[in-house]
Amino acid sequence: MVETMTSPIPGPQVPPPEPQLPDSRPHVVILGGGFGGLNAAKALRRAPVRVTLIDKRNFHLFQPLLYQVATASLSPSEIAYPIRSILHKQANTTVLLGEATRVDLERQEVVLTDDRIVFDYLIVATGTQSTYFGHDDWERLAPGLKSMEEALTIRHKILKAFERAEREPDPERRRALLTFVIVGGGATGVELAGALAEISRQTLREDFRNFDPADARIILVEGGPTLLGSFPERLTGAARRSLERLGVEVRTGTRVTGIEPGRVHLPDERIDAETVLWAAGVTGQEIAKTLGQTLVHGGRVPVTETLALPGHPNVYVVGDLAMSRDKRGNELPGVAQVAMQGGRCAAKNIVRTLDGKPARPFHYFDKGNIATIGWNRAVAQIGPFQISGFPAWAIWAVVHILFLIGYRSRLTVALQWVWAYVSRGRGARLITGTPGHDVVPARTQQSDTIAAH
Ligand SMILES: Cc1cc2nc3c(=O)[nH]c(=O)nc-3n(C[C@H](O)[C@H](O)[C@H](O)COP(=O)(O)OP(=O)(O)OC[C@H]3O[C@@H](n4cnc5c(N)ncnc54)[C@H](O)[C@@H]3O)c2cc1C
Repeated sequence: MVETMTSPIPGPQVPPPEPQLPDSRPHVVILGGGFGGLNAAKALRRAPVRVTLIDKRNFHLFQPLLYQVATASLSPSEIAYPIRSILHKQANTTVLLGEATRVDLERQEVVLTDDRIVFDYLIVATGTQSTYFGHDDWERLAPGLKSMEEALTIRHKILKAFERAEREPDPERRRALLTFVIVGGGATGVELAGALAEISRQTLREDFRNFDPADARIILVEGGPTLLGSFPERLTGAARRSLERLGVEVRTGTRVTGIEPGRVHLPDERIDAETVLWAAGVTGQEIAKTLGQTLVHGGRVPVTETLALPGHPNVYVVGDLAMSRDKRGNELPGVAQVAMQGGRCAAKNIVRTLDGKPARPFHYFDKGNIATIGWNRAVAQIGPFQISGFPAWAIWAVVHILFLIGYRSRLTVALQWVWAYVSRGRGARLITGTPGHDVVPARTQQSDTIAAH
């Protein structure tokens, strides 16, 4: 009979783990690893606190280049970086993957879908999401561009439309497949329209046999009187002219009144378009509603001049989610610099409070505003200077490379751009996913009814 029971093998004695002393350092919880949250965490690296950064994604997303993933210039990994890797050298910081559903201000706890975490100080930096101004049914028809999933959905829709056009014998149906409507003429809409125009006029020029990709219609619809409303008049005019030179039809002062499968309604026009993209508005993430404030327009949380939540000096709200103001009382825009500087300001104020000093007001230093239009044009306002055309594009390219996280991303993105510039080609033109199934936005997966016709 075989002996099945064995006695323990004698070996070196492992000492039992020492009982862990409770960590007495104040606990700073940061919600969101975007521009605001990440900068707050980094600013606390030498502070006598323990930091827990919680994000529902395990990566930091460089949103300003999302449109390049959506239009097949860059791959997802070139603009996303694991948060854990970014902060791995920061000994006082723990990164947790989790989704916060609410903040319990009374109990000083963050409630996750599966846990509760007690804080001494809290920095909320969860950003915004696309909003459809009460037309939630438009979301499944016109994906927004706020997340990686949405960028990939858009890329899939664009490339699939060209593929379907190649097989479509009916000229009217083909025309609808080659009509792209972008709703919203802010920076995201302008960048998407410029990139789409270049794909159709240049990149795909020789790829199809049954139609000319240059015949694609790209229509940019903006409800306000000008494109790029936050830019000075001279630059908004330059942006419009650049887009029109690329063949984009610009409709300003026009609001979309309806979107249905394959069709967009304007007040006095109906456009048959298989691809509709949404760049018209964002609103604060749901968690904002649990912070006990009356939200201002755009679902943003009003904050004090130190970026604290009114009545809660240990809770800060930064970045796109916060409605903060500059010295003159003007509302600060939802841009990366406001989030980065806001995150650092909140972190410093926590340290000041721990040192027994009063929190300082947030002073935003405006480094400028840039939007690109295709491969070699942009408009930029930097201090008193208004720049357009190639010089503005060159500044845009350098700034974006510098702000990307990680040397590898910087190098690969720079090389991709140089190559695309020289060859007029685009990299990631792959349609992925299950053949026969359209990719749909993560938030609408259950309710999709716009699968391929
Ligand atoms: C397409 C596009 C182009 C842009 N271009 C520019 C540009 O050229 N220049 C510029 O300055 N700005 C640009 N912006 C704006 C800029 O990206 C934002 O201002 C900036 O990302 C805001 O930073 P944030 O930290 O507030 O939020 P975000 O960067 O959005 O980060 C929020 C983080 O919170 C996480 N999160 C959300 N909800 C939860 C939850 N409930 N629980 C846990 N985690 C959560 C998210 O996963 C995310 O990581 C652009 C934005 C977009 C969408």
